[in-house]
Amino acid sequence: MQTQVKPSPGWDIVGHEHAIDILRRTLQAQQVRHAYLFTGPQHIGKTLLAQRFAQALLCTGGPDPRVAPATPCNACLACRKVRHGNHPDVHMVARAKDKQAILIEQIRELQSNSARRTLEGRRNIFIIQDAHEMNIQAANCILKTLEEPEPDVVLLLTVPDAGLLLPTILSRVQQLTMQLLTTGQIKTALEQQWELDAQEAALIAALSAGRMGWAIEAVEREDLLAERKEQLDLLAKLPMASKVQRFEIAQRLSADADKLQTTLELWLLWWRDLVLAAHGCLDLTVNVDMRAVLKAQAAKIGAEVAQNVVRAILRTLEAIEQNVNARVALEVLMLDLPTIK
Ligand SMILES: [Zn+2]
Repeated sequence: MQTQVKPSPGWDIVGHEHAIDILRRTLQAQQVRHAYLFTGPQHIGKTLLAQRFAQALLCTGGPDPRVAPATPCNACLACRKVRHGNHPDVHMVARAKDKQAILIEQIRELQSNSARRTLEGRRNIFIIQDAHEMNIQAANCILKTLEEPEPDVVLLLTVPDAGLLLPTILSRVQQLTMQLLTTGQIKTALEQQWELDAQEAALIAALSAGRMGWAIEAVEREDLLAERKEQLDLLAKLPMASKVQRFEIAQRLSADADKLQTTLELWLLWWRDLVLAAHGCLDLTVNVDMRAVLKAQAAKIGAEVAQNVVRAILRTLEAIEQNVNARVALEVLMLDLPTIK
């Protein structure tokens, strides 16, 4: 049966019907709240949905141009500006690449902007990407805005997991949980909207692990799949590597902090696949193009050891999230990896 993946009209997003439906009803009832929290794994489309919501809030193409329509029209000037990222009333806040956290200065700037009248639209919208990266001062500062918001301000926060935010923040936002898509949904979308052939769509859909954003990136960036293959080849060799070699790898990986999380997520998928393969469920593995290697390694490693590595990788991700020295965390992980001949 063909999976139905027609993007919601106007919203132009694959899947996430439930979250879109909540936003649409909010707009219809004209009961927009001051703060929303979009939760879900990386690359699932949280920021994209927040941007579409911002678009609807500022859209002037509805039946009454003074009122936000339930669905963005995609044609009016406001819609086009939000889509191109240059609407003066939509402000993006994110951690700077060279900083450890979203800083209080960024939130103070947000507050002084929010006290100002909107420049063109009816709302002043702030999208705080990965809001859990706010340091404690910034988080406390945002709390003030949430407690006494300016009337036209709407805050849209994204975060992988609601548990990463202060309870005092959580109690003041409406939460929208975004779920992973099915492999079938992603495969069909890639075939129908990105015109990929069935085989390529199947591989990318399987690798995306339910994250449409990752799938689109894989389609648009040719080097992404090559990079993944390179990393998987390295991963497959790790159990055969000596301690010295492993520590060299740990040092190299920890030097690129931005890439580290993505790398570890890839490792997690790989080791989960090894657990599945060791249980004889090779057909459920995500890395469909590496099944021969997975099968061979799983036979040597066994399910229990592979499961322990999955736990070790999760611990490493957690440690890095809590700002433990990445190199030390990776070295510990390297020692947790089994050795095979
Ligand atoms: Zn519009």
